[in-house]
Parts: sequence; C-alpha cells; structure tokens
Amino acid sequence: MSRIAYVNGQYVPHKDAAVHVEDRGYQFADGVYEVCEVWRNTIVDMPGHIDRLDRSLKELSIGWPMARSALEFVLREVVRRNRVHDGIVYIQVTRGVSRRDHFFPGEDVVPSVVVTARATSPRAGDAAAEKGISVITYPENRWPRVDIKTVALLPNVLAKQAAKEQGSKEAWYFDCENNVTEGGSTNAWIVTKDGTLVTRPAESGILRGITRAVVLELVEREGISFEERPFSVEEAKEAREAFVTAASTLVMPVVKIDDTILGNGHPGSVATRLRELFHTATDFLAV
Ligand code: PLP
Repeated sequence: MSRIAYVNGQYVPHKDAAVHVEDRGYQFADGVYEVCEVWRNTIVDMPGHIDRLDRSLKELSIGWPMARSALEFVLREVVRRNRVHDGIVYIQVTRGVSRRDHFFPGEDVVPSVVVTARATSPRAGDAAAEKGISVITYPENRWPRVDIKTVALLPNVLAKQAAKEQGSKEAWYFDCENNVTEGGSTNAWIVTKDGTLVTRPAESGILRGITRAVVLELVEREGISFEERPFSVEEAKEAREAFVTAASTLVMPVVKIDDTILGNGHPGSVATRLRELFHTATDFLAV
C-alpha cells in the first residue's frame, strides 16, 4: 500500500505531497508542528498535543487552519489510510503561501496544513530501552522561545548531528549556568543518588513535553520522590540514573553522558518502571 499524506485539504500519495515554494514554512520556518505517538491504533494524548498546537499558533499569531474537530478527524484519517498500528503522526501548520516578505501576509492568506503518519517498530524502541542510550552535552544554541514548538529546528539538527557523530543518540543542552535544559528533541530527567527524580521546571528553557506531563502524572500516582528544579551537568553525571522523554521515544533510559557511565551502565529501575507504566497513564482517543 502506498503512503498517503494530507496537504491543504487533500489526501495525496506521499510521493506527490508538496507545498508551494513560497510557503512561509519553507522560506522563514514560519510554522509550528506536533508529533503524536500512535499506539495500537490510537493517537496517544491527542487533546494534549492539539492544545499545545493551539498555544503555539496563538503565540505566533497564526490562525487555526480548520476547526479543531476537523483536524482531529484528519489525524485519525491519515493514521487509518496509512494503516499505522504503532508509529507516529506528524502535523505541521505554517502561516501559508505568500510572496516572500518578512511582514505577515494579509488576512486572506490561509495557513498551510500537512499531516503525515508512519509506522515504527515498538520492538525496536523496547530493544533500545533495554540497552539505554548515551547522550552528549551541548551548549544551548536556540532562541529563548523554546516553549513554542516551531519548525525552526536547525539548532536542534546541529546538536543532534554532533551527538550522532560522537556515537550518541541525543544532545543534552546546557545553559550559561551549566544547567541542563533539555534534549534536542526530548525532555531530560535524572534520578539522584538518594533516589529523587529531578527534572527542570517547564517555566523556561524547555518545551512543555506532553510525555513529560504524562510521566509527572505517573510519578505522583506511584509516589516516587520528585523535585522540579534545574540540575547541572555535573549533577547529571553523578546521578544514579537518567532518562529522556518524548512522544517518539516514550521513556528512554540514558546510561552515559559524554564519557561518564551512569550507575552500573544499565538502564535504571525508575526509568524502566515508568516506561512499563507509560501506556497506563494516558486517556486515549480511538482512531
Ligand atoms: N523537547 C524538545 C526540544 C522536543 O522537540 C520534544 C519533542 O519533539 C520534546 C521536548 C518532547 O515533547 P513531547 O513529549 O511532547 O514529544
């Protein structure tokens, strides 16, 4: 079966899916996106992702491209048409197509919408989680509004490519106070030597991860000792365990930061437990 994408009102074969050369997403990175996990035919935490999309659009004064219920329908339909049982669905909304000019276009220009979906292997994710991943630390190179999920991901691309070139899966950004902010495409967590789970508050320096919010629910439910506060690169390297969270990776244990092996070099018990519990925490919407 060929893959199908949704582009501005039409379902088209993936190989023919295209936007105009003067789309402002293409020319100015003037757009926002979301990635949702698809798990057993359901879109995980779709309301949370759509609420965040709404916030990102509002922060950039980009209009809603269609009614929320219509967008939800399109997401489910793209998942269905691509027969994605487990995988991800991607939504991108840009300010639309207009002659290149930095100023916002007139009200007559409608936002562009693209939705794609693809299958991923849950087994591959679980296999990676059994081993854990390594991360590098990388100086913050992004603008301050990282709370907006914009498609302007070049800084993240550079950080993650540097990680890849050093044999790691993720780059953990650190700020000018040497505190870890988050990963290039994930939120960052540590478990201190005394067993306290720590993650940076969502007020500044990070994206408010939807997976992060779900994990916080679990942490409360399980009665895990927890602190929301900044933590430094040094503290992270001395941690008992660490992990990252994102819709695409769920809870993924970290076993090495730069050259420092954490704990016994194997995924920690807190990360492993939270990964196991993840799908018991969220309210799902059937596709
Ligand atoms: N932080 C950044 C920079 C991200 O790009 C992402 C996901 O793309 C996350 C955190 C995790 O967010 P979520 O859990 O909503 O996928």
